[in-house]
Order: sequence, then C-alpha cells, then structure tokens
Amino acid sequence: MKWLARYWGLLTLVVLVVAWWVGGVQPAILLTLSLITAVYFFFRAPAWCGAVNRDGTLCRRNAKGALMGCSYRQHKWQKLKMTFVPHGWRRLNRGLWVTPREGMTTLAGLASVTSAIAAAITLALR
Ligand SMILES: [Zn+2]
Repeated sequence: MKWLARYWGLLTLVVLVVAWWVGGVQPAILLTLSLITAVYFFFRAPAWCGAVNRDGTLCRRNAKGALMGCSYRQHKWQKLKMTFVPHGWRRLNRGLWVTPREGMTTLAGLASVTSAIAAAITLALR
C-alpha cells in the first residue's frame, strides 16, 4: 500500500474526472474531491523542489507538491514567498515546469482548482 500512500491524489483525480464526465454527481461532492485533489498536487505529490539556488540553477532535490520546497528551510520559505508575492510568480513558474512530471503536477493542481471553482459556482447557482 506504499504506492497508495504516495499517489492517492492520482486516484482522486481520476475519480474527479470520471465524476465530471458522467455528470449528475452532487456539486458538494465534486467540490470536496476537487479541493482534496488540489491539496495533493500542490502540497503532497512527489516533485522536484524547483527553488532557485544561489548560483541561479534550480534545486532538484525531492519535495512534496508543486508549491512546497525540499528539506532546506530556505527553499520552502522561498517557494512560499514566491506564491504570495506577484513578482515572484515568474521565478516560481520556472520551477513548476522543470520536467514533464513537474508540469503534469502543476497542470493537475490547476485543473483541480478549476474544477473546485466550477463546482462552487454550480453549488451557488442551485
Ligand atoms: Zn530545494
């Protein structure tokens, strides 16, 4: 079950896609699933750190999620700061697409957020 502990977000993502595809699923359930999936991809999924090192290269140590840094406290702080400071977005953005895997993690995270917004709107319009 080690695989499941690391990659459970992929399962919730698949369930989410199927739920939208099939339709008729309660928006509250869609919203919950979307949020859980978004949290997974932004904060839990195995990914590279992607913070900028002192020499300008990108850190390739293992990290959790598209928005979290590796075990270096400075990198965690750097990514967190970049998320909340608009002019840091371009630098953060570089780290989000380092490899296809990081790109997929970022895309899946963004898709989950979009899905959460769509579900919230559906809920509000009822
Ligand atoms: Zn790092």
